[in-house]
Amino acid sequence: NKISKEELEEVINEFQYEGKLVFIKPYGSGHINDTFLLKYEIGYMGSLNVILQRMNREIFEKPVELMENVIGVTEHLKKKIVEMGGDPERETLNLIPAKNGKKYVIDSQGEYWRSYIYITDATSYDKVEKPEDFYESAVAFGKFQGLLSDYPAESLHDTIRGFHDTKARFLAFQNAVEKDICGRKASVKKEIEFVLEHEKLTTVFDTLIRKGEIPLRVTHNDTKLNNVMIDDKTGKGLCVIDLDTIMPGLAMNDFGDSIRFGASTAAEDEIDLTKVSCDMNLYEIYLRGFLKGCNGKLTSKEMELLPFGAKVMTFECGMRFLTDYLEGDHYFKIHRENHNLDRCRTQFKLVEDMENKWEIMQKITEKYRRMYKQEKSDYFG
Ligand code: ATP
Ligand code: MG
Ligand code: MG
Repeated sequence: NKISKEELEEVINEFQYEGKLVFIKPYGSGHINDTFLLKYEIGYMGSLNVILQRMNREIFEKPVELMENVIGVTEHLKKKIVEMGGDPERETLNLIPAKNGKKYVIDSQGEYWRSYIYITDATSYDKVEKPEDFYESAVAFGKFQGLLSDYPAESLHDTIRGFHDTKARFLAFQNAVEKDICGRKASVKKEIEFVLEHEKLTTVFDTLIRKGEIPLRVTHNDTKLNNVMIDDKTGKGLCVIDLDTIMPGLAMNDFGDSIRFGASTAAEDEIDLTKVSCDMNLYEIYLRGFLKGCNGKLTSKEMELLPFGAKVMTFECGMRFLTDYLEGDHYFKIHRENHNLDRCRTQFKLVEDMENKWEIMQKITEKYRRMYKQEKSDYFG
């Protein structure tokens, strides 16, 4: 549903903005929310840019809970950044309050809006152009993980229930196979077999959590490059944005998902599977950045489990594509026939490739884990 000029005016009037509004325009390349940039002139001297977003109510059914997550996490980050002598207006998102004191506005259509201070002199890149970009996003997401390591993760709401509950995803898969509502089961025997052979992957993390061997963490769950602002001057990862999907989870989830799409040598829907593999150089680059960013806040066990996280996240994702294919493609948008099946196949090819390279992945991880334990973050300088 379109946003009218009247609706925008109504909403803008509800926020505590200062100065004179100079312009307002649609902004960025996000797919989920509707994002606008507003520029205000304050006195003769200054100006302030702000981001205004209408939240996606179809995907996020509990916007108030979602905003509670964002408020809690950004306030914690702000405190940490100030303690470290950083710039809290550039290194984390800052919500602009509404006139009623809340951090969001509900308009007369029942839509939810929020507003952030615009982060100046920084860019969010849609495409990885060089390995350094990938490295800088790793540092930023690692830092996010590290700064939130003393945040009570269990106090966060699950904005999307069971998001990385791999076991539940497996049950949904089994259900889809059993029902076979599209009659597609016979054509994907090999893929179904692959899932069944890997069933064990679905419970490992669950068991470790229950035994108390790994901690719940604040996870971001959308760790792509354009959710990091890169400082235009220094080229460094400055700030993690897009906090809609922060939830309690595992450090290995965020790491693993980044490897899944960032270290793959091919597109997620590549048809020629010979092109699909997990690039060990990119794996190492991301690992190095992530651990530097975490700054000693991961446990030894978590570091050891990072490559396993990559495998589990990739497997889970492939299984979800397959489930959606079996159920008639109603979750992931498709742009061609068998699109979800093609996506499933690239993911399973990646899992296989990781299995073939398992010793290398572990060796690389072990190398950094050891250095990390002995010399802390100094080594990464
Ligand atoms: P996605 O498709 O990644 O889920 P989204 O619709 O959830 O995106 P955001 O990522 O929150 O939207 O914002 C869209 C874009 O707007 C960002 O990629 C970034 O370029 C820009 N942006 C968002 N917040 C800020 C900010 N505080 N300062 C500067 N730019 C911002
Ligand atoms: Mg985004
Ligand atoms: Mg988003």
